[in-house]
Amino acid sequence: MNQDRPSSGRRVVVCSFCGKNSNQVETIVTGPDVSICNECVSIAAKVIAREKSKKPFQLQGQIPTPEEIKSELDKYVIGQEMAKKAISVSVYNHYKRIDNRKNAGDVMLDKSNVLMIGATGTGKTLLAQTLAHFLKVPFTIADATALTEAGYVGEDVENILVRLLQAADYNVSLAERGIVYIDELDKISRKSGNPSITRDVSGEGVQQALLKILEGTVASVPPKGGRKHPEMDFINIQTQNILFICGGAFDGLETIISNRIGKKLLGFGADLQNNKSQQGQILQHVEPEDLLKFGLIPELVGRLPILATLDPLSDQAMMQILLQPKNALIKQYQTLFAMDDVELTFDEDALLEVIAIAQKRGTGARGLRSALENVMLDIMFHLPSQKNIKRCQITRKAVLGKAAPIFTFIGGQSDKKLQEDAA
Ligand code: ADP
Repeated sequence: MNQDRPSSGRRVVVCSFCGKNSNQVETIVTGPDVSICNECVSIAAKVIAREKSKKPFQLQGQIPTPEEIKSELDKYVIGQEMAKKAISVSVYNHYKRIDNRKNAGDVMLDKSNVLMIGATGTGKTLLAQTLAHFLKVPFTIADATALTEAGYVGEDVENILVRLLQAADYNVSLAERGIVYIDELDKISRKSGNPSITRDVSGEGVQQALLKILEGTVASVPPKGGRKHPEMDFINIQTQNILFICGGAFDGLETIISNRIGKKLLGFGADLQNNKSQQGQILQHVEPEDLLKFGLIPELVGRLPILATLDPLSDQAMMQILLQPKNALIKQYQTLFAMDDVELTFDEDALLEVIAIAQKRGTGARGLRSALENVMLDIMFHLPSQKNIKRCQITRKAVLGKAAPIFTFIGGQSDKKLQEDAA
């Protein structure tokens, strides 16, 4: 061990790395034969972090099997069996392809980017989000409608990569294995014959720009995003191993599909627009050619080989969404109330009413939160100032705004004022 022994006889420990003694630094940790000061520890930590970021990223431990991935998705996403299966397999293959490139020999394994097709609020974003969270990879969401080709007003496609890099804490190798969810892909379909658009900056041009990063390119991005300037420093990101999951409602796609196959052949009636379960079933027959007809360019369709369709949510699925997932809305409200020592219960017909309100809004499960929030706002406003409530029961009438919820009080007394206010 490095020790100075000054004339006073007191031992002064010296850092074996920088040579400073314990009077010159905050702390020195000593081992059997060496000592290290706090300054050298933090320099060493930075060196280790830098080296780590250079190593190719691997998923922690083994790649989860498709069944394991799906059972994780099951915890958060209700229904959507077909989409969950398709995504689980594609993600498994994706990370297997990255980890085993050497073993693939001459066979070029294609990247399995996914296109999710389903009405708004049916769980597309939730699926992608849950996946990234489970796999512990960086994740970002982009809205295709906000994107433009480089040089036009709007967001450059490459800014998606900047956000992914930020989600990866600027660890490039981590970002290069991340997941990007691109929402509203259907809104950048080719708009043919629209005379008011002289240059189709939001449609085909964006598809072309997206295509580049989807198929694999080295994009040089400004670390803080925004417009590129020649004097900026750029970071190079290889997009070959980034998994792109795209999503969209693709309104009207059912008609294209049923025209191709023939409604009669499928046994469906003419009133497609108004029959949600029929729409879901027809979507399952989607083929790449239908997407071309819808207005996606062939190259982009070719880069989205996995098509996963999501069903419109039935009342039963909505009920499960309210009650079952780990972070189900009802569980969240109950937890909030429990913090004030109040037990919160919902009558079944109250929940059915919430579902009916949400279904009318046509925004899938998204409508559930706003419908419930409307009901709960007043109650949550008054409740914390009432100390003697032990139970709050939400009835159908309370959901309809026709009566107050039923409160039970400690000791059984009732509080008229709260009931009247809440009504
Ligand atoms: P979109 O299909 O438009 O991307 P989202 O995934 O953003 O819809 O869903 C909006 C919200 O609705 C989610 O945050 C989630 O709370 C709820 N939700 C939608 N679909 C489901 C589902 N299948 N299972 C559980 N929750 C869902």
